[in-house]
Amino acid sequence: MNILLLGSGGREHALAWKIAASPLADALWCAPGNAGIAQEADCVALDVADHAAVVAFCRDHAVDLVVVGPEAPLVAGLVDDLSAAGIKAFGPSAAAARLEGSKGFTKALCRANGIPTAAYEVFTAAAPAKAYVREKGAPIVVKADGLAAGKGVVVAETVAQAEAAIDDMLSGSLGAAGASVVIEEFLTGEEASFFVLCDGETALPLASAQDHKRAFDHDFGPNTGGMGAYSPAPVMTPETTARTMDEIVRPTLRAMAAMGCPYKGVLFAGLMITAQGPKLIEYNVRFGDPECQVLMLRLMSDLVPALLATCDGQLGDFALRWYDEAAITVVLAAKGYPGAYEKGSVIDNLRAAAEVEDVEIFHAGTAERDGRLVAVGGRVLNVCAVGKTLADARTQAYAAIAEIRWPGGFCRKDIGAKGLARRAP
Ligand code: AMP
Repeated sequence: MNILLLGSGGREHALAWKIAASPLADALWCAPGNAGIAQEADCVALDVADHAAVVAFCRDHAVDLVVVGPEAPLVAGLVDDLSAAGIKAFGPSAAAARLEGSKGFTKALCRANGIPTAAYEVFTAAAPAKAYVREKGAPIVVKADGLAAGKGVVVAETVAQAEAAIDDMLSGSLGAAGASVVIEEFLTGEEASFFVLCDGETALPLASAQDHKRAFDHDFGPNTGGMGAYSPAPVMTPETTARTMDEIVRPTLRAMAAMGCPYKGVLFAGLMITAQGPKLIEYNVRFGDPECQVLMLRLMSDLVPALLATCDGQLGDFALRWYDEAAITVVLAAKGYPGAYEKGSVIDNLRAAAEVEDVEIFHAGTAERDGRLVAVGGRVLNVCAVGKTLADARTQAYAAIAEIRWPGGFCRKDIGAKGLARRAP
């Protein structure tokens, strides 16, 4: 098969690594890719926002399957345009991608179907939004309705912070994404990332994972795209998993099918495991980054048949096999991330790091310049490891990080600590 993968992050490097290992993959391209993906795939400079160009590339190269990594092309309808051209693509239609593209859409779906989630209201004007916040009190969460590249959620500790976020979003700081805001109850509990493959009808759960959203150790600092992850997530007990499937995932898929937009692709439920059970924080319509990295390391089965079965509505009899080992990924980011950071700093000694036993390194914002590896993004490297236990995997990942010479970067030192604490007697 000829396969085209779209994206340039650690998630896509992990997908490329897994796809390239499939005996079904004859050729693999990635657009735009990064310096690490270039070791697995032919990186091509395709403008993913130009759907006609993507279709033309697929025709010219007899592409059999397109795998879309990030959310923006999904929300923009790339899968619809590829399907219309007769090209198979892994990912939801634009109508189904509203589960991520519009928080108001998802909240309304939850309300209509009794799906457990934070209590909320939607506003397009500041005065009633602020009145609602004053009535409910803090902490409270203010979210832009649309896609905001991770900047659309403010967990406000005070009413004043919530009011400022309302003014900021409704005055256009996030463009059209903030034209309406969802204000919701602050949930307490432990977060988990739950992934299922869906073929429109059947949902196949993947292994559990947990990420670390805050920039600094012990969950301090601003929210980021994700600073690390591990799998399995001990908080996802068999009972919590069953409840998530029955109370959240299956009702969502039934509702989407009933609305005429069946969900096909990977559905990522961001959950808060509360004292009352799992509640939905948000849906994403693609793999999580960095959760994808640990899932791909633990997946024993070939990924490509699973992607095809998802596209073809054939998940009914499908099963995936997983390694029992734990996997971890620690993100190395440029100093300053998620705020302003410098580009172009040189990263040395990666080869020695990659040789540490049980370690795999997936690139995100990297490029090669004059034969040297340089940082060109906020999140730059994912140092991953597998081990018999999470503690073993963690030791190997941090041993590899100790080999890397990159003064311009930083990482959290406590990735996996929550999972270890939960396992302790
Ligand atoms: P989201 O982009 O919706 O996942 O939100 C980003 C992060 O904000 C989540 O991972 C949570 O840590 C936090 N968050 C979002 N909504 C809530 C909520 N209702 N209660 C508590 N924390 C939340």
